[in-house]
Amino acid sequence: MQQDETISAIATPAGEGGIGIIRMSGEHAVDIADKIFRNFKGKAIGQFPPRKALYGHVINEKQVIVDEAICIVMYAPNSYTCEDVVEIQCHGGSVVMREILDLTLRLGARLAQPGEFTKRAFLNGRIDLSQAQAVMDVINAKTKASLAVAMEHLSGDFSDKIKKIRHEILSMIAHLEASIDFPEDDIEALDMDDIRERIKLISAKIKLIADSAETGIILREGLKTAIIGKPNAGKSSIMNLLLGQERAIVTDVPGTTRDSIEEYVNLGGIPLRLIDTAGIRETDDVVEKIGVEKAYLYANRAELVLAVFDTAEELTDEDNEIISLLEKCTGNIIILLNKIDLEGEFRNDIVNKFKNYQNKKIRGIISISAKNGDGKEKLVNLVSDIVYGGKISKYESNVICDARQGEILRQATALLNESLNTIEMGMSEDFIVIDLRSAWEKLGEITGETLDDGIVDQIFSNFCIGK
Ligand code: GDP
Repeated sequence: MQQDETISAIATPAGEGGIGIIRMSGEHAVDIADKIFRNFKGKAIGQFPPRKALYGHVINEKQVIVDEAICIVMYAPNSYTCEDVVEIQCHGGSVVMREILDLTLRLGARLAQPGEFTKRAFLNGRIDLSQAQAVMDVINAKTKASLAVAMEHLSGDFSDKIKKIRHEILSMIAHLEASIDFPEDDIEALDMDDIRERIKLISAKIKLIADSAETGIILREGLKTAIIGKPNAGKSSIMNLLLGQERAIVTDVPGTTRDSIEEYVNLGGIPLRLIDTAGIRETDDVVEKIGVEKAYLYANRAELVLAVFDTAEELTDEDNEIISLLEKCTGNIIILLNKIDLEGEFRNDIVNKFKNYQNKKIRGIISISAKNGDGKEKLVNLVSDIVYGGKISKYESNVICDARQGEILRQATALLNESLNTIEMGMSEDFIVIDLRSAWEKLGEITGETLDDGIVDQIFSNFCIGK
């Protein structure tokens, strides 16, 4: 089904690149393209087969050449949006792309809203909501593991799991309703114990997926990590060791100082979002280096604290302060006994400090050398254990959900529990059906089968324009 309005947007990133793509979707996309694209054979676009790369010029209303370009037409329903889609591949300059976009707008297209192409693909039934969300996750993926999860969702594997669960609930509803409608027909007498067991089984399946939300959020957004320790303990060296070859992504958060530069480290597939790396690296002046006070601030904000100690030196007051601040941390803590390539003379002194430690958040003490990389593997494995929590294997990426989906799953579990209570109280089948139906509807919000427009709009508003 084509929407009335034809939308248009620059689909490639802002700025300059080799190629830029202007994408249109909707009823008039081909008409508009015909007016602004002149191929060298002098034929109308419609005279060529679909999905053929046509070479020609983009011209404006005064027949002035704007750029040399390739034009590709995909007719409904065989396109990203299931509508007529035209992509014009021009040179990737911001002026030329803007000029072509403006041309399409002057000829009747409307500027696409963020995510509107994908939203149309969803509304036209080509993909479901979970797949649509995955489109942005693929684009934003910070590590291969994040990408693997996003691809499982995009391919529909995740949705299939949810659909199967919904189907199981629906077949129970049908079963119960049949016994309500034909009470005297006792061929398939209702076995309440069986229904109860089936509900419990479904609940357990849902819980498994809901529990993965935390992992999903980390793989999507990164694990907020602080590296703390006294000056010269080796924080920057540890950071460089972690950054290694896989130096990931640096994002400049708009409107903030460079203090909030976000740097991602790819640790065995898990993106660590380092807090204030500028503060760690910026200066060689020892006094200026991250002080204990600042360390406290960072450690408090972090989901993972890497506390670095120098095993080649006697513990100082600053070390002791750090040890006591760790006691109050709520995030996961890993103690790194650094410089183990040297004698490591004071290693046991540090370990002893944690012997009677109360904070259960200390997940491990690892001897490491930022200099030669010893211990890095152990650190990678430990972080992986923390993130995957032993609940799911890192290879089961098709069960990992995100925060919104996790919340829906939790609510669905509550509704299923409600139905178990209803059975327990000996209430009639009608009431059990009501609870089961609510759970079934709730789960439909994941794939978008049962969802109000407001939430759909809100989800797509987080997309980028042109996608
Ligand atoms: P920061 O102040 O905590 O960021 O510490 P740095 O990373 O700047 O390290 C302080 C000094 O210790 C530097 O001279 C590093 O080269 C040295 N260093 C750091 N880690 C190690 C290590 O594992 N082994 C050895 N031998 N030296 C290290």
